Order: sequence, then structure tokens, then C-alpha cells
Amino acid sequence: MPWYGTRCEMDRLTDISVIRDVMERHGSTFSKALGQNFLVNPTVCPRIAEMGNARPGFGIIEIGTGIGVLTRELALRADKVVAVEIDTRLIPILDETLAEFDNISVINADVLKTDLHEVIRREFDGLDAAVCANLPYYITSPVIMYLLESRLPVKSITVMVQKEAGVRICAAPGTRECGAVSAAVRYYAEPEILFNVSRGSFYPPPNVDSCVIRLNIRETPPFKVDEGIFFRMVRGAFSQRRKTLANSLSSVGIGKADTFAALDSLGIDKNIRPEQMTLEDFGQLYRKLYI
Ligand code: SAM
Repeated sequence: MPWYGTRCEMDRLTDISVIRDVMERHGSTFSKALGQNFLVNPTVCPRIAEMGNARPGFGIIEIGTGIGVLTRELALRADKVVAVEIDTRLIPILDETLAEFDNISVINADVLKTDLHEVIRREFDGLDAAVCANLPYYITSPVIMYLLESRLPVKSITVMVQKEAGVRICAAPGTRECGAVSAAVRYYAEPEILFNVSRGSFYPPPNVDSCVIRLNIRETPPFKVDEGIFFRMVRGAFSQRRKTLANSLSSVGIGKADTFAALDSLGIDKNIRPEQMTLEDFGQLYRKLYI
């Protein structure tokens, strides 16, 4: 009897010998380039699912299924799961490991080239939507920004990321860790770090620790801006971290005199550094410079 013959054995997808066995039988190997570090700590996936809105009334998009360990936990709790996995070699494995579920669709594609709006329209009729994933770390920021900037209609994005990236993404503007991504994330969502996950919770173990973060999507942005222009200004502000805001902005074509005048009228020190600006400060600066 193969290992996957019973429900009980299916629940062993966090067992390293089971992972090795299924990968070997299908002639698959772990791809470092695709960020394939699979979860082997059995407590982590249920926590991601439960804290990530996997529950009745919800459809969940998962990014990067691996051999389906998180997918199963999501499908046990939510009405529907759509899982996007780029690695074609994993698809026959998922046919086995997810065989007992009739509420999972696997899409073999690059998530950054997948029209997730269309997926939600097609698959989640009448359901609320959320994203849950143990993200491949090489594309953490692009994936998060793609989901946010395309205004995917989801309630939350709950993802495992490298610990330092999680701290940066969730950093409040005005703090030392803050960067352009943190400011952008705050504009679209209220972020929080849920819990830390050590490198030993993965196979093969990566050489960094991780954390799970949740971005609770705002129904409306905190203020009204032309987002293209606003985020060009914010990226410009953080483009040269050691410089003052006015110097950084001048390198993206916003004259120093204009920045000084705007800061002065807002009562902000003209030598302020970008990481000292709150999101609201950036909103007000935008209004002074562009409206
Ligand atoms: N969810 C599994 C788990 O927790 O064990 C696997 C997580 S592993 C860190 C990341 C997964 O994302 C891998 O299976 C990898 O093949 C997949 N992946 C990498 N790049 C991707 C992309 N651009 N689009 C979709 N999936 C991708």
C-alpha cells in the first residue's frame, strides 16, 4: 500500500520521510530557485489557516502549494481553495495528496502572470475571498505589491515571509525599519505580525527564520491620491536612505525649493529623513506638491 493510501497517511505531509518518498517517486527534486522549503512543523499550517480567514463563507487563494500541506488545512476549513503553483513537476503529486478534496482547484502557473481577479469572479461566486500562503521568498515584495496594487477584492492576505522582510513590511512609517514597501502596505492595509517560525520548521531548512504576517485590507484608502504619482514620490523619498527627504526627492525630479516650501507650510523640519515621515505626512506632502 503506498503511503498516500489512507487519510491518516495523508495527514503525514509534514513528515520528512513522506515528503522525500513522494518527491522521489515522482522524480521531483527541491528547487532552490523556486524557494521550495516545505513546512514540516505540523502546528504551523493549521494556525495560518485559522488566522487567515479559512472558514465557511470564504474562498482562499493559495500561492505556491508545494506538495499541498497548507492547501489541505485550508480546504478543511474554507468553502473553496484555488492554489497557484508554478512547478509543473508538483502537479501529479498534488493529484495524489489532494485527491480526497472536491473543493480545491490547482492552477499550474506563475502567480505574477495569473489574473486573480478573474479567478475570484469565476471560482468564488457569493464567497468572501482571502489569500493564504507560505510565499517563495525570492518574490515576497513583488507578490504582495501585485496583490495590493491590483486591488484584489480580498479581506486579508496572510503569508509566511522571511522574518526581516516581515518586520520591514509591517513597520509603521516614522520608525527606523520603515521603507517604501511599508508605506505602500499601510496605505492599502493594516499589517500585523502574527507569529515567528524558526528555520527548523522547514525541509530543507532555509538559512533564515520566518514569520507569518497578516495584512487586513482597508475598505477605503486613508486619503485620496493619484496612486501612480503618490507612490512614485514615496519610492523617490526612500531611494537614498541616508539622505534627507528633500535630497532624495530631488534625485527623482522634485526640486528642493518646492520640497522645502511644502515642508515649511506643514510645520515639518526641512532636514527630516524619509523614515521619520508618517503615512499622513506623505499624504499632506503630496497635496502640497501636486494639488
Ligand atoms: N505551501 C508549501 C508549504 O508550505 O510547504 C510550499 C511553500 S514553498 C516556500 C513555495 C512554493 O511556491 C513552492 O512550491 C514553489 O514551487 C512555489 N512558487 C515559486 N514561485 C512561484 C510563482 N511565481 N508562482 C506560483 N508558485 C510559485
